[in-house]
Amino acid sequence: MRAVYECRCVAKTAAALLQGVPGTIFADGWLVKYSVPMESVDFLALRDAEVASRMTTGTGILSGWDITRRYTRAEWAAASHALVSRFRTFEPAGEECGTVYDDTGACPECAAGGVQVSPLRLPASRLPRGVDIAITIGGEIVVSKRFRECAERTELTGASFGPVEAPRAPHRTNEGWFQLRVTSQHLEVAEVTTFGRDPFDTTTYGRCPRGDLAGLNLLSELFLKAPPTPAADFAETRQRVGLANGVGLLRARRLLVLSARARTVLLAAGMKSLQLEIAHVVP
Ligand SMILES: [Zn+2]
Repeated sequence: MRAVYECRCVAKTAAALLQGVPGTIFADGWLVKYSVPMESVDFLALRDAEVASRMTTGTGILSGWDITRRYTRAEWAAASHALVSRFRTFEPAGEECGTVYDDTGACPECAAGGVQVSPLRLPASRLPRGVDIAITIGGEIVVSKRFRECAERTELTGASFGPVEAPRAPHRTNEGWFQLRVTSQHLEVAEVTTFGRDPFDTTTYGRCPRGDLAGLNLLSELFLKAPPTPAADFAETRQRVGLANGVGLLRARRLLVLSARARTVLLAAGMKSLQLEIAHVVP
């Protein structure tokens, strides 16, 4: 596995703190982009500059970051599970369009755990084009008709496909899109998995003391405890990621995990925008 850390910093600040780390200036000279292997000397230099900046000025120098991981064919062949690591994200959230949630059972600490009690409602014009799976800013996952047909034809287990209704005409359903609703038993995230605000976050920022919200972002690869048997092809973690006390419409969401068979059939069918990382199962 090769993991690459990519971040953007304000060029002026970076010039003072990050001499010697090769970056690419863009955005009219305002920003500099770094792309370095995780745990490399350059990565450690970026970490030290970020930590130093937070200590001296109270704010960091990062204006955005991402981690991408690439696996060998042999690593994929040995993997039993795959995490859907990123989605095409779009607005609006279902809740803005009449999707109803019942928050009475939500966690009193972090407000995660509201239950969707109506079909998903979204305007057809806002559903993304050229992709087969996407997510709203509210964490609702939608899939294309061909994604659904592929899953049903190959009898993938653990999910149902709900309608996507028009906001003001609830009985007019979208023919090209469906909501992926995972119905299988939850997976348990193993403790070695790390979550946080950014890769240099060593606090417990955003973690719910009750254990249902793991943090703002997944930082490491995903490690799972032994999955329930029989294993489902679609499953979600019990723990959520996202903002505590969901600001506005942003709801913390569970992580979506596929079986090796689901990964194989969906990729063989050419599903677009399905981005995966290996999810490890630990004893
Ligand atoms: Zn909570």
